[in-house]
Amino acid sequence: MSAEQAAAFIRALAVANPAPETELLYDTPFTLLVAVVLSAQTTDAAVNKCTPALFAAAPTPAAMAALGAEGIGPYIRRIGLWQGKARNVAALAAQLVEKHGGEVPRDRAALEALPGVGRKTANVVLNVAFGENTMAVDTHIFRLGNRTGLAPGKTPREVEEGLMKRCPPELLRDAHHWLILHGRYVCKARAPECWRCVAAAHCNYRDKVLAPLAR
Ligand code: SF4
Repeated sequence: MSAEQAAAFIRALAVANPAPETELLYDTPFTLLVAVVLSAQTTDAAVNKCTPALFAAAPTPAAMAALGAEGIGPYIRRIGLWQGKARNVAALAAQLVEKHGGEVPRDRAALEALPGVGRKTANVVLNVAFGENTMAVDTHIFRLGNRTGLAPGKTPREVEEGLMKRCPPELLRDAHHWLILHGRYVCKARAPECWRCVAAAHCNYRDKVLAPLAR
């Protein structure tokens, strides 16, 4: 896909949804960080069912660290991998208190040093909480980058770098939202819904899916 075509693809998503937002519930950089850690291999909707009560009980790193893994566990039992996530959230909260004065650092290396935080989570926090131009490649964006020809790559990092190069600079701030939402609701894993895709004219996927016949 040419750079012009890639830009047109992302612009088409931007026009259709001018003010995209994360679907995770949060109200501070800390609660965003915890919500993103909890969302690994789980839907945002499942996380959102657990986090209001958890964040009411422990809205700050100090309160979360005091709650500890055993205290966090009962709030998140309905989401996948909850035991490991409870340990990570308790440990990252303790590290924020000990090393960062109880604040979420605006620094990639410091974020990625926190338990349970990888490059994708750091990218989400840097983008959503701090307004930086980052591209958080999740399973939806990885699939979309390869399927459409937008940014082919064998690893999430390759797709991230391709998208960072090809996305028009003025759209970088919100591009990962547009791409995640597009992958989640339109360009779906099993069967993309090409008949209602606003970017179809700019997509290189050969086997575009037509609208199901009306019954
Ligand atoms: S046309 Fe189909 S494959 Fe291409 S981006 Fe749209 S939904 Fe995905």
